[in-house]
Amino acid sequence: MSNVTLGIIGSGQLGSLLCQAAKKLNIKTVVFSDDKQGPAQNYSDQFIFAKYENSEKIKEFINKVDIVTYEFENIPVEILKRIDKEKKVLPKPSINQIIQNRKLEKTFINDLGIKTTEWAFIKSAEDIKENENLLPGILKSNTLGYDGHGQFVLNSLHDVKKDWCFTADYILEKKVNLKKEISVVISRFTNNQIYAYEPIENIHENQILNHSKIPADITKEISNEAQKSANLISEKLDYIGTMCVEYFIDQDDTLLVNEVAPRVHNSGHLTINAFNISQFENHIRAVCGLKNEKVKKFFNAEMINILGKEIEEYRNRSFSDKEFFFDYEKKAIKDKRKMGHLTILKK
Ligand code: ADP
Ligand code: MG
Repeated sequence: MSNVTLGIIGSGQLGSLLCQAAKKLNIKTVVFSDDKQGPAQNYSDQFIFAKYENSEKIKEFINKVDIVTYEFENIPVEILKRIDKEKKVLPKPSINQIIQNRKLEKTFINDLGIKTTEWAFIKSAEDIKENENLLPGILKSNTLGYDGHGQFVLNSLHDVKKDWCFTADYILEKKVNLKKEISVVISRFTNNQIYAYEPIENIHENQILNHSKIPADITKEISNEAQKSANLISEKLDYIGTMCVEYFIDQDDTLLVNEVAPRVHNSGHLTINAFNISQFENHIRAVCGLKNEKVKKFFNAEMINILGKEIEEYRNRSFSDKEFFFDYEKKAIKDKRKMGHLTILKK
């Protein structure tokens, strides 16, 4: 498969790490992005900068590649579908259509008999009143949310302002009294084989992932249930590639799906150093039709996200042979922006 050229849409840190995994497998990469400064261009073989609506540039991209994948889910589905008519897009665009829409995503998961938080679809302030039982809750934009963007905590109906004008659709979720958050990163291959990494424990601060670790401090039952649900979701989506299921565990040890990411995931970064095959390599293998290799864990690990200005301190630090620092080489330092991560291997 070394003659394959893979197209990757999006040029952030996930794109960079996908390009590095592809290089290891001798697969050439062409990154397409609407961010002129996207760091993945430092690792791809070619880089095309243009708006996603630029059909000339999309055509150029299609002509250069054999298969297309993406590093983030908020790409207009019509564009993925257009590309898919000429070159296969994996995971397939219809999956993205479901998952980039919280209402469709939760409905899909609930229909599989898998629990999510209690939720309602919201189009107006009136709809919130009718779902007062979900308060305290979190109002989330139905599409285009990430790292807590587009989320509002509503403690009671007093927080709902009469003059709110709803220009977008929302969902309202009951606030879960969290015991823990975990995620299952899972890769599904064209031969229908599946590999689920063990559950990863995630600690969030201000709705942004702060750090992740394996093993997760959870019971065997919850671990099995989380992997089983992730398996079912990937199968029913007919998913090809690496995806991630984020879960909440409430105070009664009930496992609830928070959301699905149809891509490699921040919590899975520790797989780069702790396993023989990372979530990125498994994604490339799966979408390029390579077979799944046996995955082995070498170490327990912890991964710390480096946000905003914190990166400056890390850039001037030295590291032990158990510490792996990743600088995403983003041009601008912004408050709360993911700038890099550190993985620490443990016994
Ligand atoms: P994003 O799409 O921005 O990742 P999430 O829906 O995953 O948004 O929310 C980000 C984080 O906010 C979660 O990981 C969790 O820590 C917190 N959060 C979101 N929804 C709830 C909820 N219903 N109850 C409790 N905490 C929540
Ligand atoms: Mg999330």
